Amino acid sequence: MADDPFENMLAQMDRAEEYAEVDHGIFERLKHPERTLKVTLPVKLESGGVEVFEGYRCQFDSARGPFKGGVRYHPSVTQREVEALAGWMTWKAALVDLPYGGAKGGVICEPKELTDRDLERLTRRYTEGIRRMIGPETDVPAPDMNTNPQTMAWMMDTYSMYEGYTVPKVVTGKPLEIGGTPGRVEATGRGVSIITERLFEYLERDLTEATVAVQGFGNVGANAARLLDDAGARVVAASDVTGGAYDPEGLDVPTLATHVDAGGLMEEYTAGVVRGVSDDRTRWDEAGHIDNETLLSLDVDVLIPAAVEGVITAHNVDDIRASAVVEAANGPTTVAADEILTERDVQVVPDILANTGGVIVSYLEWVQNSQEFSWPLQTVNAELERRIGSAFDETIARYDDGDVPDLRTAAYTIALERTASAHEYRGLFP
Ligand code: NAD
Repeated sequence: MADDPFENMLAQMDRAEEYAEVDHGIFERLKHPERTLKVTLPVKLESGGVEVFEGYRCQFDSARGPFKGGVRYHPSVTQREVEALAGWMTWKAALVDLPYGGAKGGVICEPKELTDRDLERLTRRYTEGIRRMIGPETDVPAPDMNTNPQTMAWMMDTYSMYEGYTVPKVVTGKPLEIGGTPGRVEATGRGVSIITERLFEYLERDLTEATVAVQGFGNVGANAARLLDDAGARVVAASDVTGGAYDPEGLDVPTLATHVDAGGLMEEYTAGVVRGVSDDRTRWDEAGHIDNETLLSLDVDVLIPAAVEGVITAHNVDDIRASAVVEAANGPTTVAADEILTERDVQVVPDILANTGGVIVSYLEWVQNSQEFSWPLQTVNAELERRIGSAFDETIARYDDGDVPDLRTAAYTIALERTASAHEYRGLFP
């Protein structure tokens, strides 16, 4: 199951069905994406040759509004993964009550092996390939793994060239200069940090006494770590694909973030190479190397998987010693592992709640583009906190009803009921 994120998503839905007030016929409908487009992308590389890439765009469900979801560049992208991610987007948008359906895109590629020019050509070709599906009122892409504001700028430009005028609203996560919103880059990490703080309030525990381990120190993981460090938690471990840095006394998160922003890897950091900082002050931690599997099993208060799906499975769940797991990544826990964590009373805040900061602020960007008006950072952050906070409260209220076994099932119950209700009101076409 860990190998198939789509099966994992279906199993999560099945766990929630008995608690959700959803017509069984509609429930079965919600297990299938509306459509998935597969595109072939021949790209002339800077090195001279032509490489043929494969990409996807899945539109999962649009009962509640236009499709919304990121685009991922990664060698392990598959159609099933993109469809699972599109499903999760649907449940997220419903849980935080945004007027969106769910979608996702992906291109099978290793961005580290491509130049900026190659990435631009690939992005423009992919945008051309999915151009007939996306649009400011139909399907609005955003960044995900290995894509960023520059990628969104190329997508927006390509789409606009075909339309003959500038269409900022066709993507979110854009640079500020072309219609982006303040706060979007760090929004998902900020949401993870807010959710962790709210969880500790709910559990009546003190976050300033807590230790945190973060798997995946990328956009989401690094921002979550930085904000939790600011909030007084002790971030003892963080990793990337090359492994992790571990210091039980706490990592020097700002310096580590500077190193990673400057293109540095964890394996360099733990070997003493720190990028982007002056020689006279490198770092105050004494971080040693730790591998990604060992990081997951650290005896910490909060484990934040913020990299890829399927990392907490039946094979390693017995090694997990954290008392809370906040899922920053999409689909990091398999259903088999989830059941064991629930039995062991480990609080797992599910991805469809914990990582919704990104889609919330994407929505706020889209609204500002519609208004042709821009909001200050404080307004964006306050609205993010209000929306994710109320989704947290609703999920906790459902969980505290005593009926559902865990927070994921509580969150799914709300998301499925909202989506099914939209289907019921709209009826079945024709
Ligand atoms: P990113 O590319 O910025 O960072 C990913 C990090 O994970 C990098 O440090 C990378 O080295 C590391 N990594 C990759 N493969 C790994 C592996 N097998 N083991 C350990 N580490 C590994 O990506 P991101 O945008 O931070 O996304 C991370 C996760 O959060 C993904 O699951 C993504 O779908 C999810 N997410 C992202 C957003 C967003 O706004 N960017 C929103 C919601 C959810």
